Formats: sequence, C-alpha cells, structure tokens
Amino acid sequence: MRTVTTDEANNGGNNLTNGGFEKSFTSRFSSLLASRDRDYLLSPTGTQVKVSDLEGKILGLYFSANWYSPCRSFTQLLASVYEQLKSKGSEFEIVFVSSDEDLEAFNNYRSCMPWLSVPFSDLESKKALNRKFEVEGIPCLIILHPGDNKDEATLYDGVELIYRYGDQAFPFTKEKLEELHREEELKHENQTLTTLLTNHDRDYLLGHPPTNQVPIDSLIGKTVGLYFSGQWCLPCLKFTPKLISIYHKIKQLLEEQGGEDFEIVFVSNDRDEDSFESYFGSMPWLSLPFGDAAIKGLYKYFDVQGIPCLVIIGADGKTVTKLGRNLINLYQENAYPFTEAKLQLLRKEMDEAAKNLPKFAYHEGHRHELTLVSEGTGGGPFICCDCDEQGSGWAYQCLECGYEVHPKCVRAVGNGASV
Ligand SMILES: [Zn+2]
Ligand SMILES: [Zn+2]
Repeated sequence: MRTVTTDEANNGGNNLTNGGFEKSFTSRFSSLLASRDRDYLLSPTGTQVKVSDLEGKILGLYFSANWYSPCRSFTQLLASVYEQLKSKGSEFEIVFVSSDEDLEAFNNYRSCMPWLSVPFSDLESKKALNRKFEVEGIPCLIILHPGDNKDEATLYDGVELIYRYGDQAFPFTKEKLEELHREEELKHENQTLTTLLTNHDRDYLLGHPPTNQVPIDSLIGKTVGLYFSGQWCLPCLKFTPKLISIYHKIKQLLEEQGGEDFEIVFVSNDRDEDSFESYFGSMPWLSLPFGDAAIKGLYKYFDVQGIPCLVIIGADGKTVTKLGRNLINLYQENAYPFTEAKLQLLRKEMDEAAKNLPKFAYHEGHRHELTLVSEGTGGGPFICCDCDEQGSGWAYQCLECGYEVHPKCVRAVGNGASV
C-alpha cells in the first residue's frame, strides 16, 4: 500500500488511487512532476518547458547537489552520456531534482546540466519526489518508462548503470541489461593482454624514463599485475612501497630460476599529470599513459570499487584473481603466481605452521589475551590492527573486544608465550 504524496494531492484528483483507478487524461509524468500551480519545468536556459512534452519519453529523475563532489563528478559523466543519446535522437530526458542549499548554488549547478529541472522554489514537489522514490543517498538516478506501473520506478540504480555501461545502458530495459551482462561475460572469456591494455592508437606501455615505450606484445605469456592506485590515496601510499619490495623479490626469484615472467602495470587514478609523474617515478614497473582512454575502461571492466587494487592476469591472458593486494599481504612474494593451486598449497603450509603456534598470546600494546583462530573457528577476513592491512585465514583475535592481528604481526609479551 502506498500513501498519496503531497504533489499528487496538490494535483487535485490527478492521482491514482490504491485501487488502480486511472483517469484517462492523466499522464504519468504530469502527476509526478507538475504541481497545482505549475505545469512546467525549467530548460537549461531557464525558459519554461511543459511537463506534457515529456510524454512517451524515457525519463531519468536525477537527485543531486552541487555541494557533494561525487554528485559533481557524476553530473559530468551523465551530461556526456545525455549528449550522446540526444545526438542519436533517443527519446530520453532527464529532470534534475535539486538538494542544493540555495538558489544561487542551484543556478550554478544547473548551468552545467543540458537537461530540465524542477524549479528550486518548489520545495514540496522536490520533497515528494524524494519520498516517493525513497531516495536515501545522492547522486541517485531513477529511471521511469512511460508505459510502466505508475507506482514504481523501472530502475533505481541508474547511477551504477551509467558508470558501468554509459550510453549503452539505454533504453534501460531488463532485456537490454541482460544483453549487456552477457556481452561482458563474453568479453571476459575472450580477454587477452592485448585487448586489455591497448587502445586504437597505442600498442605500448611507459617504462623508465616515461619516454621509453615498451611494446605490450613483450608482456604476452607473462603473469601481469594491474596495479590500480593513486598518489592522493593514503592506503595506496602505504601499500606501494611494500609492493615494490615484493616485486623485486619475485623478479629475483624468477631470475634465479632463469625466467623473467612477471610484470606489473600501473593503472593510474591520479588527478593530475604532475602527481602521476612523481608517483610513477617511484615505481620500478611499467604504466599506462596518464589519462589514457583504456584506464577508465579497466576500472569499469574489473569493477574496481576501491584502491589500492591489484588484479592478476595469468600467462594465458585470463584473470587469475582480483585479490592480489590481499594475497601479497598474506603471503608476500610466496603468493606468486597467485593461482588457485598455489594458494591451496600456501593454505596447507599455513595450517601446518599454525599447528606450531601457541593457542594464546599477549600482543605488545593490547591488554587482553589473544586467541589463535582460523576461518573455521571464528576467524575470517579481517583488517590487522597492527599493520592495518587485510588478512584472512589464521589470526590472533581478542575474544573480548574483537582486536585482531596477523600471526606474523604478533609481538609477544609476558606469560612466556612467544610466536
Ligand atoms: Zn598485520
Ligand atoms: Zn581486547
């Protein structure tokens, strides 16, 4: 059951009742977007556009605010997708529902939007739309199809779909999304290092100095780590030196065995070229050029939600794991080549080694006793309270307060317990 929202009440009888009674002259978008004394929206230049002009179009309701930077960056992307769709003649329109603080902020923000807006002064309508679609966080893009049930949105996750598929997501139907999903699966199945790292006018990576171009072909047949990172990100700054030292150890190990089968490629999330140059300058491996079109694609393709992230590509060009960072933290250079067979071996070794660990320990700086736990006995993925890195498998855990550290991080004190 739903309650009638304020703007429908304002609309004087144009609303649907719970029983589904519908007056034939009522249109879906009018009852949503007009009010008793307003039947128009604002165009980008501030002129009035009749709400009835939207009939028959697929509509995106865009909840956003200028004071929030994730909104501002999504607005840029959405504007380019919108322009692309418009240039193809797609029957698509967006209506901005502002959460800006004042009229000036609203007008400023709106000036970079090529679509329509609910007037800033119509607080009631904005509130009613937020309530009706249960908008909890911004940016939020709700998709409405003209023919769909009036009470529900067609899709609630427009922001995610635009990030993932761009203008390809149009017309936002279930069938279209299933098709995109299948295409994506196929892409992963047919993935090669070349399809991942080249783009139409570039078949090389940057070495040191960056003017040194290294052909992507020279990496074929190697295990390659794609390192998603940025200098602005603190956990990245902490992880990078560790990765560098482990990179050297793996290289050395392989050299001793007479091969050279490992490389890392930096996929930069830096915000400007200067930070990219200084950050990449500290790394011993290769990089995609700053701002290269392939970078955005890779973040999307591997669905990278947070950095630092290390994706491992096997010698056959297929993805081995997206958990490279975690595995480096757990097993250091021993994680190489990150395959399931190798990990099984390492887990077995870890279980063996854990047999010799004391069941309990006191860790320097923590007053409670810690208990040795494994995945099967109350452990699981955790963040080590000592080194701040991820862990899984064996750990020393405080049963009283949840404090948890890697076995390798325990600095034993008192009670004769030693690790
Ligand atoms: Zn630790
Ligand atoms: Zn404790």
